[in-house]
Amino acid sequence: MELPALPWTGGCQCGALRFTITGPPLTLYACHCTECRRQSASLHGLSLWVREAHFRLTGVPAKWTRDTDSGRRTDCFFCPDCGSRLWHKGSGEPDHPLSAILSVKAGLLDIAHLLGPVGHIWTRSAMAGAAIPDDLLTCDRQPESFDALIEAFNERYRIAEA
Ligand SMILES: [Zn+2]
Ligand SMILES: [Zn+2]
Repeated sequence: MELPALPWTGGCQCGALRFTITGPPLTLYACHCTECRRQSASLHGLSLWVREAHFRLTGVPAKWTRDTDSGRRTDCFFCPDCGSRLWHKGSGEPDHPLSAILSVKAGLLDIAHLLGPVGHIWTRSAMAGAAIPDDLLTCDRQPESFDALIEAFNERYRIAEA
């Protein structure tokens, strides 16, 4: 499936914060863990992995930090006016392989209607009736590696040349 040429844009519900993605995202998956469910106040979180160098923001976000099960910390950025969560980023471990990757909340993209998750993780805590298509990758908890999700994204989507 072909996606529009970069950059992609998006923003919070009230429009005070707008962002631009200037480089190809790595993957997009749905997370059914209880943290993501509370964060999204819905069925699941949606994580679009974007390299930090490929993300530009206009506006001033607020930040909340939480501990994760793996013992790391996650900085969670949101709009102080309307409360939309915009992205998460691991903090406190600059050498961690994911420290330069942002998990952007994909439902905020202006092209969100064109793309969907290539996998679902933490399905063991999914809400009753959550539809998880058979043809997508699934993991009943946190995957040991995200390589398969990255590969599946690259197989499913091609980004048009600018
Ligand atoms: Zn807002
Ligand atoms: Zn989660």
